[in-house]
Amino acid sequence: MSMRIGQGYDVHAFGDGDHVMLGGIRIAHERGVVAHSDGDVVLHALCDAMLGALALGDIGQHFPPGDPQWRGADSRAFLRHCNRLIAERGWKVGNVDVTVVCERPKVGPHAAAMRECIALDLGVQSDAISIKATTSEKLGFTGRSEGIAAMAICLLVRV
Ligand code: MG
Repeated sequence: MSMRIGQGYDVHAFGDGDHVMLGGIRIAHERGVVAHSDGDVVLHALCDAMLGALALGDIGQHFPPGDPQWRGADSRAFLRHCNRLIAERGWKVGNVDVTVVCERPKVGPHAAAMRECIALDLGVQSDAISIKATTSEKLGFTGRSEGIAAMAICLLVRV
């Protein structure tokens, strides 16, 4: 097999704070997110997509939320760890496509920085990383701004 594909999904509730982390980028916001780590839904969904492509379980198994060593963790460390796991098995990221679902903050102005950041950690060109965003038209938990969600899909190719 020369290609593998995986998908991931993550949600965090909004809570007290003054910023959210998305795709490794700090974005000023009137709310933060409730999370054990830095609560970066983009990177968490992407990690799950990468792990899923090789049937390596999920992010909660690799970085248990009850483990104090991950308190406030920079999710870029999770991403780099997942990238090492796939590299050790002879794979690399071909491309990534992420959709962020929230009413706010606005993702578009930060998408280029997020793509650069993720590309750097994965050792690929930024044109292999797509970051998209949508609102949910004020419907559901994202529409009521109770939380933020992200979906990711990732293709792996043989090195
Ligand atoms: Mg998460």
